[in-house]
Amino acid sequence: MEQQYIQKSRLFRESYLPGGVVKLRNDSYAMVVGTRNNPQALQNVDETQLFDVINRFLLEWQDLIGGEVDEMLKYALSSRTLLVHCPSDVYISPYPLLLQCAKCKILDFYQTGISEEKLLSEIKKRSRKSGGRSLIQCKNPACNGHMVQLPYLSVHRCGSLSPINLPFQALRVKNITFADQGGSFFGSAFGNYDTGEKIATALSMPCSPCTHRHPEGIDLSQRGTPITSGESFFPHAVQYISLNKDTGRLISDICAQIQSNSSINGLGIDLAEGIVAGLLGVIPQDCLREMFTKMLYNGSADNTSVEEIEEKIRLKQQAYNAYYDLAKTDPLMQEILASVEKDLADLHQKLKTAKGVFKEIRTYIENDELINAIANERRTQESVFFRGAFKEFTIKDRLLDEKNPETKEIVTQNWDDLKSKYGVADVVHISNLNVVLSTIGYTREKRYPYSESESVTPVILKAFEDRTDQNLRGKAIVYAMSAETEGLLIRLDPRKILKWCHEEFNWPLPSDSLLTDRIAAHAHLLKTCPALICSPTEVYRETKFLDIKQSAPFHLLHTISHCLLSTAKRHSGYDEKSLTEYLLPMDLSFLIYVTSVQNYTAGGLLTLFKHYLLPWFDDASNFAFHCVFDPICSDQGSSCSGCVQTVLGCETFNFGLSRSYLFGGEVKNEDRSLNIIKGYWNGK
Ligand SMILES: [Zn+2]
Ligand SMILES: [Zn+2]
Ligand SMILES: [Zn+2]
Ligand SMILES: [Zn+2]
Repeated sequence: MEQQYIQKSRLFRESYLPGGVVKLRNDSYAMVVGTRNNPQALQNVDETQLFDVINRFLLEWQDLIGGEVDEMLKYALSSRTLLVHCPSDVYISPYPLLLQCAKCKILDFYQTGISEEKLLSEIKKRSRKSGGRSLIQCKNPACNGHMVQLPYLSVHRCGSLSPINLPFQALRVKNITFADQGGSFFGSAFGNYDTGEKIATALSMPCSPCTHRHPEGIDLSQRGTPITSGESFFPHAVQYISLNKDTGRLISDICAQIQSNSSINGLGIDLAEGIVAGLLGVIPQDCLREMFTKMLYNGSADNTSVEEIEEKIRLKQQAYNAYYDLAKTDPLMQEILASVEKDLADLHQKLKTAKGVFKEIRTYIENDELINAIANERRTQESVFFRGAFKEFTIKDRLLDEKNPETKEIVTQNWDDLKSKYGVADVVHISNLNVVLSTIGYTREKRYPYSESESVTPVILKAFEDRTDQNLRGKAIVYAMSAETEGLLIRLDPRKILKWCHEEFNWPLPSDSLLTDRIAAHAHLLKTCPALICSPTEVYRETKFLDIKQSAPFHLLHTISHCLLSTAKRHSGYDEKSLTEYLLPMDLSFLIYVTSVQNYTAGGLLTLFKHYLLPWFDDASNFAFHCVFDPICSDQGSSCSGCVQTVLGCETFNFGLSRSYLFGGEVKNEDRSLNIIKGYWNGK
């Protein structure tokens, strides 16, 4: 058996999982039928967290973009019998088995109603060894050619797959030929070998499962497609940052409290306020973690309010002051003083977990409902606990590290330029980011169902099933891997975004001080832009009926992420296929991290961070300025596959992107549009 090596992360994003049809190095085609599981690779994958993420994806797939989900997958998830595997080897079987003579073009092995095993054995019977290779001879006695696979498939959006459909007229003929017109399926035609007549052009037949299920449906025909076009298999992957076990537990305990205690008196509201305080940077992450741990696990959270404890502290302090001088001469007083001192310390400790300890954030966000909504979002919690969870290298560290005064000067200057030219607040390098990548299922014919009328037959997200192992038949599998990798966290400056929104879209500004106060500006953006406080995959649904202007900060952040991904290669060595984005919109930040684990050598992004941050942003800015498909692209909302929509695994399925947010122009989101005079990068 011949072996072929594939990069691991490609397994998750290309056609190398069960159901996919691949072209092999020897030019033959095969379907992936199973994988060998490597359980060790799953040690860092927490099933609870993974199932949460998958569940959310499936809900969004159905509600948000109108797709359907395979019953097998839904059942497996709801009954928690979903299998999680990490592929180490991939098993394949020749496919399609419809063969054509390379010489006389006659087709063979198209009999319907015969099992694949039977067909394969028939094919094997006809094979002869020749020059070290085994060749399948043509059935035509007048021809000495050999058979090859016909590189086309018929697929349907419901997930059905078959070799190309033979028209019934052709089936009556003894020797059918197929004339391939240079890669396009529709230009091809079937003919009669013996008479030389053309029988029919290649057409697509209705998909039989769908004609039964949706007799009135539109688009029931299977589509003929070259195997290499990619239309026959679209894997659907999700990814998330896997924080360590303790943090994971802390987050889920916080969630449980916030959800059950939505009333103003509960511990829930304190925790929700705490999360928001952490997000806005009112309280440093490590303090917050300590306070949360005390509140949740040490039973020290009671119902005494901050005000009550402060009053007690005030009284104790008075007593302390009164005894202080006396204690200098009186040993008894000294003892009393020591005891008061201890009480004071206890009270200060208590203050840390008292009811209302995070009240300060109410000066920024008053509304209970909004605080709860922000705190309840998983991405918010990740934003808060992300910092400090991994090994960080900051600009400050970079400057401390630099011994050469001239280089130091340049780095400082570049950093100032970067902030002022591109509205960036912070960039941090992370060297041990733990990311889980999981592929949940696949679709055929179309990648996404998106906004279609009711009568169109739905796109079904099919579950993976392993056909090599009898025990796995009928069981849905998801594939997952965790990887330690490097990433860059890039955060935009809320004051600059707010200023831009105010000037460009007339966003009201309650006070001018917002433009100088980072925390207040951040809070104001969260209050005004709902797209910032939901998960990126929900943005499409959540903002469907809003004015585009109102979601501008989100789309701006997202477009910058795409421009940076597209231009990272020159400075990091990683192309956009090896890098992935992870948006943390409520933090006004996003992560760019390396997904291509196999060739991860550590350091590509670190080099970029140390030496090329400014040139990288300059390149991204040039990239955003032009598109190879201009002027067409600019006329159509400045967003196409020639420019910003090139990212694999985009978190909004490429929704809402536009270069116009950076340099002005028109934005188009379906039937709505927005004209931007000055973009974020030329608005100054
Ligand atoms: Zn032949
Ligand atoms: Zn179908
Ligand atoms: Zn374009
Ligand atoms: Zn994206």
